Amino acid sequence: MNTPEFRRIGLTGGIGSGKSTLARLLAETGIEVIDADAISRQLTATGGAAMAALARDFGADFVAADGSMNRERMRELVFSQADARLRLQALLHPLISAEIQYREQEIRHKNVSLVIIDIPLLIESSYWRQHADRVLVVDCDENTQVRRVVERSQLKPEQVLDIMAQQAGRAQRLAAADWVVSNDVEGMQALQTQASAIQLHF
Ligand code: ATP
Repeated sequence: MNTPEFRRIGLTGGIGSGKSTLARLLAETGIEVIDADAISRQLTATGGAAMAALARDFGADFVAADGSMNRERMRELVFSQADARLRLQALLHPLISAEIQYREQEIRHKNVSLVIIDIPLLIESSYWRQHADRVLVVDCDENTQVRRVVERSQLKPEQVLDIMAQQAGRAQRLAAADWVVSNDVEGMQALQTQASAIQLHF
C-alpha cells in the first residue's frame, strides 16, 4: 500500500511531446525518475531478462545476432498485427511492472515523497494507470510533435501521424491530467521553469 506521503506521479504525453526531455530536467532538479521505456529496452537488450521468453514466443527471427531483440522486425510486426502487439505486451508488461515496483521500493527507502514514472501508455491502458497516483501530462501542439519527431528521426510526417492515431488523442490526455506542462516554446527555458516548480503541484 502507498502511504499518502509517497506519491507516484505518472508522466505521459504523445510521441515527441517532450516526456524524455522533461524527465531529464526533473531528474536534474533532484527528483527521482523511473523510465518505463528504459526498463523495457534493458529487458530486451543482450542478456535481458525478457529475451529467452521472447525467442520462444516469437522465434529466432526476432532476435538479433547480438542476442538483443530485433527492434525493427518487431516494430513492423506489432504495427501491422494487433494480436502480436498484445502478445508482446503480455510478455513485457509484467516484467516492466515488477522492475518499476522494485525501484519504487528503493526510492521509498531514501525517504523522499515523490517519484516521477515516465509511462508512455499511461492514458491508453488501465494496467499502467494503476501504477500512478497522479497524472502529469507534457503537452504541445500536434504540428510541433510531428516536426520534432521528424527532425530527430528517420520517420516521415505521415508515419508520425500514424503513430499519433494509435495513441490517445490530445483532448483525452489533457482530460486525464492532474497537471499539464506546456512544451510549445522552443528551447529549454520555459520547460526548465515548469520543471523547477513541479514539486509544488503534487
Ligand atoms: P517519444 O514519445 O518519442 O519517446 P518524447 O515525448 O520523450 O518522445 P522527447 O524525446 O523529449 O519527446 O522530445 C522529442 C524531440 O523534441 C527531441 O529531439 C527533443 O530534443 C525535442 N524537444 C523537446 N522539447 C523541446 C523544446 N522545448 N524545444 C526544442 N526541442 C525540443
